[in-house]
Amino acid sequence: MIRKEDARNLDKKDPLAHFKEEFYINEPRLYMDGNSLGLLSKRAEKSLLTSLEDWKEHGIEGWTEGKEPWYYLSEKLGSMTAPLIGAKDEEVINTGSITTNLHQLLATFYKPTGNRNKILADELNFPSDIYAIQSQLKLHGLDPNEYLVKVPSNDGRMLDEDTIIDMLNDDIALVLLPSVLYRSGQLLDIEKITTAAHEKGIIVGFDLAHSIGAIPHELHAWGVDFAVWCTYKYLNSGPGGVGGLYVHEKHLGQAPGLAGWFSSSKAKQFDMDHTLIPAETAGAYQIGTPHILSSAPLAGSLEIFAEAGIASIREKSLKQTTFLMELIEQELGSYGFTIANPREAKRRGGHISLEHEEAASICKALKAKDVIPDFRSPNVIRLAPIALYVSFEDIYEMTMRLKEIMEGKLYKQFTNERGIIA
Ligand SMILES: *Cc1c(COP(=O)(O)O)cnc(C)c1O
Repeated sequence: MIRKEDARNLDKKDPLAHFKEEFYINEPRLYMDGNSLGLLSKRAEKSLLTSLEDWKEHGIEGWTEGKEPWYYLSEKLGSMTAPLIGAKDEEVINTGSITTNLHQLLATFYKPTGNRNKILADELNFPSDIYAIQSQLKLHGLDPNEYLVKVPSNDGRMLDEDTIIDMLNDDIALVLLPSVLYRSGQLLDIEKITTAAHEKGIIVGFDLAHSIGAIPHELHAWGVDFAVWCTYKYLNSGPGGVGGLYVHEKHLGQAPGLAGWFSSSKAKQFDMDHTLIPAETAGAYQIGTPHILSSAPLAGSLEIFAEAGIASIREKSLKQTTFLMELIEQELGSYGFTIANPREAKRRGGHISLEHEEAASICKALKAKDVIPDFRSPNVIRLAPIALYVSFEDIYEMTMRLKEIMEGKLYKQFTNERGIIA
């Protein structure tokens, strides 16, 4: 039997507990939606203000003379991100968004030739990733219905790695998969899939939206060809924060599929020559002028990750999600919930996926009780106890508020339909 006392004891022993003070939490609100939009930290706020000050003080000179020179910021953020994904500094750059970065990397690495011309993705993938693949196929004059192959899911929640590997056929040119599935929170075995794809000569890309900042990765050692992610989820960079991308060292030095003047080698960029000399780093996959004010908060935020360490963050996150699942079973066992994420630690990400017929109305009732969950159509409540700013006691308190809602049927006051953003 888990009690509130147990939660408090876990908080007392938690080496990361003090990071919570660095975030704007707005208690008594319980924020469980850091997997959609992470909260603001004081350090992210400070690094954003630094860039504004640099603008105020230096005008155009801020590109090179500010406290945080804008001309090198994307590369600096890439280096700060590299330890989170097991990459070399030069393999990482912060730029664009997941979707634009996917366009860039598909334009670069998807090279249909002869009978090897299809892209493999999965039927549970996020729509934007699928739209990007479909439009890239169309740009090659290929019908997405034929050339986009989707790995099926048996239960609508998970993917089976062996099925994925069985589908890595000779007609597949490139495979794009999520590291962690956005609905069920399933974590795929990136290394195993990458090795199997390479044995077949297939380029492998991953979307790390739901794993970066929550889970350690070894992209370089695993040989992953490319990856994309956003920074406004677990990395707490703020709404519309700059995206990121990784390209394995073995592919560096090539021209990007979509070029622009920021793809240029930095030393040559201002020669203004009409022949592009691409950067020797992942910086070559930038296109235009970096969005400095959407990048600056990430610098402060990544300092926190460097101090906390991604291994410790993962360790705490697993303890917290386990604690949450145990509490759900203890307190909510009779209310019709299904825990839809994998149970095994090595197969799950940073959020819990809770299914219920009344998921949308339950989410509204939670918000009325100052709990911020996240709803994914048609029946999923995602709950992400973020290691850096959610305590074990918060998890306990959240479960109790959910229990009150179920006991009193308080969700019946709300319609079981999603809002515009859900
Ligand atoms: C959040 C998310 C996106 C969003 O893409 P943006 O281009 O950053 O808007 C795309 N794919 C996945 C898997 C996501 O989780």
